[in-house]
Amino acid sequence: MNQIINHLLKSKNIFLATHVHPDGDAVGSLIAMGLAVEALNKKVTLYNENVLPAVYRFLPSINRIVQHANAENDYDTAVILDCGNLGRIGRLHSAIARMPVIINIDHHVTNTGFGDLQFIDTSASATAEIVYRLIRKMGLPISKDMATSIYTGILTDTGSFRFSNTSRAAFDICSELMGLGVDPYDVAQHVYGTYSLGRIKLLNLAIDSIEISENGKLSVMTLYQRMLDETGTHSEDIDGFIHYAKRIEDIKVAVLIRELSGGKNRPPDSRYHVSLRSDGTIDVSEIAASFGGGGHFSAAGFNIDSGIADVKKQIFKLARVI
Ligand code: 5GP
Ligand code: MN
Repeated sequence: MNQIINHLLKSKNIFLATHVHPDGDAVGSLIAMGLAVEALNKKVTLYNENVLPAVYRFLPSINRIVQHANAENDYDTAVILDCGNLGRIGRLHSAIARMPVIINIDHHVTNTGFGDLQFIDTSASATAEIVYRLIRKMGLPISKDMATSIYTGILTDTGSFRFSNTSRAAFDICSELMGLGVDPYDVAQHVYGTYSLGRIKLLNLAIDSIEISENGKLSVMTLYQRMLDETGTHSEDIDGFIHYAKRIEDIKVAVLIRELSGGKNRPPDSRYHVSLRSDGTIDVSEIAASFGGGGHFSAAGFNIDSGIADVKKQIFKLARVI
């Protein structure tokens, strides 16, 4: 931690980035860390390649995050947050790999240990918790903006203090953040309270798509690009849907298969993202890693280049070993 702080103090122009299809922890960690480094009078760029989920747009400094950046600029340091590997940043990852110093701040068990300096704590409830520790260690005051961002990261990564990563530290930090001006009701209203009509209709299609393995232990939800088009929604609207598949009784592993839009060079039905959630008895990070992805014990994911019939075949095979 001291080495990271010493390096940040020496840096002048810092690039901060987090993973594609960002969740609350990715967005919250990015903003809080960005504002902290800026408070040290550094030039900062906050980057994420995707459109940010509507539910996080209430965060006060959300507009500081840019979707396009020139990674060839004179950055002396890259701070990568909530990414198990550098590729999780998306298309800029090889340009970022060439930056002089890379700092890796994360809590995924599958973190590859990339970069020059690491602060990886797999017992942290969220990357935002690690960011909180760094800010405290730097002796910086935590503004209300930073506090709300860190709180949102911990709230969402612990599934509102329901998942097994919910710790005393998570409660202690959130209690302190409340003292710094965070309004839990207001955050919850934004993050969980508001759904667009399109999102509700998409949820209906997602629930309707659920299939259960023969042994009743695996549930699979499938979302195709055309469903998003029909309901006028975007991939960010899918966030949280998998919990409906996980809540079904006797389910040990829930799977959400999402078609990734082809883009110019890829035909439809050729690439999917697979999200995995377990009831806490199965290590889905291992399953994801075997497909080239990663994550946590109970929540993980991977991308797969194949047609839906083959993807489903491979997924349903997993039911035999759970
Ligand atoms: P999600 O289901 O939201 O895609 O991801 C669940 C967890 O797995 C998150 O912590 C996410 O960072 C991780 N994850 C998802 N996809 C990948 C992937 O392709 N590679 C790695 N290393 N981690 C992933
Ligand atoms: Mn996280």
